[in-house]
Amino acid sequence: MSYQIAIDGPAGAGKSTVARRVAKEKGFIYVDTGAMYRAMAYYLLTRKIDPADGEAIEKSCIDADITIQYENGEQVVLLNGENVNGMIRSEEVGNMASISSKNPRVRERLTHLQKELAKSNDVVMDGRDIGTCVLPDADVKVYLTASAGVRAKRRFHELTAKGERCDIKKIEEDIITRDKQDMNREIAPLRQAEDAVLLDASDMSIDEVVSAILELCR
Ligand code: C5P
Repeated sequence: MSYQIAIDGPAGAGKSTVARRVAKEKGFIYVDTGAMYRAMAYYLLTRKIDPADGEAIEKSCIDADITIQYENGEQVVLLNGENVNGMIRSEEVGNMASISSKNPRVRERLTHLQKELAKSNDVVMDGRDIGTCVLPDADVKVYLTASAGVRAKRRFHELTAKGERCDIKKIEEDIITRDKQDMNREIAPLRQAEDAVLLDASDMSIDEVVSAILELCR
């Protein structure tokens, strides 16, 4: 049996930084499920699909073949064979992902891939529904959160460090909208699994969160 660490939580709580670090410490693979939903959203945006048109999303998503590979320990997302890592981190793609991930067909395709990955590998997997739906029997489950203000500030620093111009107020508004969408959708909404440990990282450093999760694995 593989060892599974599930980390869920809202946008910008630091899940990917923490999950990557925990995976490195444990020698596990890191599966960033948000990147898969982003790759699907990127595909839909390039096809100019209207976010409000559920039927069009359902039809188009079938043509998007999303797989992942590892290069030097880093996850590479392939969309129809093309590495899209460099295309999926914008706010536009994140906001579209939050809408298109509500679609049952999109979730079905990506959830299947995620379960398969965890069957044959020890994993640290992060997302919104990992502890509740994708890996309900995970060995360790964490729900990582932080206040919307703290999360917006972090996202702002990440984006400006990459040279993107952005407005912190708009980022906070987008985060709140995304939280609402992710928490209130019908299928696989974002919520803390009953057996998940809650970590509020508003006043915790990355090192402290990583240590707390490693402690849970002992
Ligand atoms: O984590 P990240 O911000 O990259 O995720 C982008 C969007 O993908 C989320 O807002 C959410 O709607 C969707 N997502 C999801 N289930 C997951 C991971 C991400 O619905 N397991």
